[in-house]
Amino acid sequence: MKAFDYVRPSTLEEACAVLADPAGSAKALAGGTDVLVQMRAAGLRPSVVVSLKDVPGLNFIHADDDGGVTIGAVTPLGAVEHSAVIKERCPAVAQAAAWVGSVQVRNRATIGGNLCNAAPSADTAPILIALGAEAVITDGREERVVLLEEFFTGPGQTVLGRGELLRAVRVPPAPARSFATYLKTFRSAMDCCTVGVGLCATFEEGSAAIKDVRLALGAVAPTPMRARATEALLAGRELDETTIAAASAKAVEEAQPIDDIRASAAYREVLVEVMSRRVLTAACAWAQNGGRG
Ligand SMILES: Cc1cc2nc3c(=O)[nH]c(=O)nc-3n(C[C@H](O)[C@H](O)[C@H](O)COP(=O)(O)OP(=O)(O)OC[C@H]3O[C@@H](n4cnc5c(N)ncnc54)[C@H](O)[C@@H]3O)c2cc1C
Repeated sequence: MKAFDYVRPSTLEEACAVLADPAGSAKALAGGTDVLVQMRAAGLRPSVVVSLKDVPGLNFIHADDDGGVTIGAVTPLGAVEHSAVIKERCPAVAQAAAWVGSVQVRNRATIGGNLCNAAPSADTAPILIALGAEAVITDGREERVVLLEEFFTGPGQTVLGRGELLRAVRVPPAPARSFATYLKTFRSAMDCCTVGVGLCATFEEGSAAIKDVRLALGAVAPTPMRARATEALLAGRELDETTIAAASAKAVEEAQPIDDIRASAAYREVLVEVMSRRVLTAACAWAQNGGRG
């Protein structure tokens, strides 16, 4: 590993200022479960590593007045997994966090690191996109807010500019009569998803007719993606076996998987069909059961 400077800023302004320095190639470090692996094995050579651990105001889970939740970027995934507020208001986010790695990994790995690493297979991304979450970005002085579905620009790439950090993720309140879930397939424990599917479906009162739906897919495109054509097919339709079969086939059509070390593109297409069918079938059962179960 090449020598590098290590700094532990104690304010957000200081952290952003070091990251903004055009003379260096500074890298933020949260839990380090991606950064350190990349520095040891993937040729990442930052001149400065900027620890975010001492920066106040980045590790929190806040129950918002509107019924949503704001999660600080440096909050460990273990805290997200076990948070009573998240389990009550957006349980599918706790469910997705619990799918990441092992207990040890989740105690270090942060939600912000999972998103800013921008792997197409990041486990928290599909469900947060499906829930309409927003990224709160700061340059240390001012903030801007970007829909999470617009946050990713390519593998390992985000809209974050030099000197900017993700400060928090804001999950809006769940609409009435909505069902959300995240499903992941993987080769072995502690592996990123081969395919991940996040769903948030809102139903008309007393029926299984879809009022609004968001379906997001992980590990089948250069970025986690919304399956917009599938959503359009589902909108306003009664969720039954025929609709679910048509929607699952549409999801395969719009996924753009590639062959990589985790799976072939052909296998991923099969998984997209099966997993879309499973999450939609679960949503249908929930709606038919009066929004329970
Ligand atoms: C054994 C093992 C198993 C794993 N299993 C999974 C898995 O099942 N699913 C999965 O999705 N991932 C998995 N991962 C990957 C990793 O643990 C996650 O992506 C984790 O959430 C990264 O968080 P971190 O805090 O460790 O990020 P870091 O490594 O600290 O940072 C990751 C990237 O984000 C940037 N960054 C971090 N925080 C911020 C911020 N606030 N603002 C701007 N940039 C920031 C860093 O500069 C870096 O580019 C695994 C990793 C290991 C080592």
